[in-house]
Amino acid sequence: MSLFQNAQFFTTVNHLKDLPYTKAEIAFVGRSNAGKSSAINTLTNHVRLAYVSKTPGRTQHINFFELRNGYFLADLPGYGYAQVPEDVRAHWVRLLGQYLQTRESLIGLILIMDVRHPLKELDKKMLDFFAETGQPVHILLSKADKLSKNEQIKALGVVKKALKPYMERQQVTVQLFSSLKKQGIEEVEQTVQSWFNA
Ligand code: GDP
Repeated sequence: MSLFQNAQFFTTVNHLKDLPYTKAEIAFVGRSNAGKSSAINTLTNHVRLAYVSKTPGRTQHINFFELRNGYFLADLPGYGYAQVPEDVRAHWVRLLGQYLQTRESLIGLILIMDVRHPLKELDKKMLDFFAETGQPVHILLSKADKLSKNEQIKALGVVKKALKPYMERQQVTVQLFSSLKKQGIEEVEQTVQSWFNA
């Protein structure tokens, strides 16, 4: 059975001070609507472990799931949702920054970006926040099914090129992913497994 299957909901927290103790965890981040909840559900094979939001950006809590190996997956609130007031959005970006920079048990970050709208300013900010930790980032270019195979390959190439400066300072890998077509699941599993094995 794969790493993510049979993941169990563990807890929800609303404040960083309430984060549970974990030996090791990986975190999922992304802009609202990037497909983060769908990716978690697809990887865990659950219909609704992570709630696929009708009103993105409203949920500002961190959900923890326990993986089969006893390590954890943290589902962080989506950022950049336009219909949330600017000060609230800015507040959440700061909190995400604090989490990414100070969470000692965080061993790697999964960053989800819509393949059609990659590397927005806040995505780059997340990479910047996390760069100082020296821990790896794996990027999922989500909703790949929205593009033809040729367009997917082209989009992957464009993102890889744009990531060159980031790759010089931290370990950044990137792949295509589709929850709808169940594309790219093994690649994510192998990457995350290698982090846990390291
Ligand atoms: P989140 O806000 O990042 O958690 O994004 P959601 O997982 O809630 O997805 C946002 C929207 O994108 C929903 O309408 C999903 O059905 C859609 N979506 C998510 N993943 C995919 C995918 O792989 N392919 C397609 N075509 N749509 C997707």
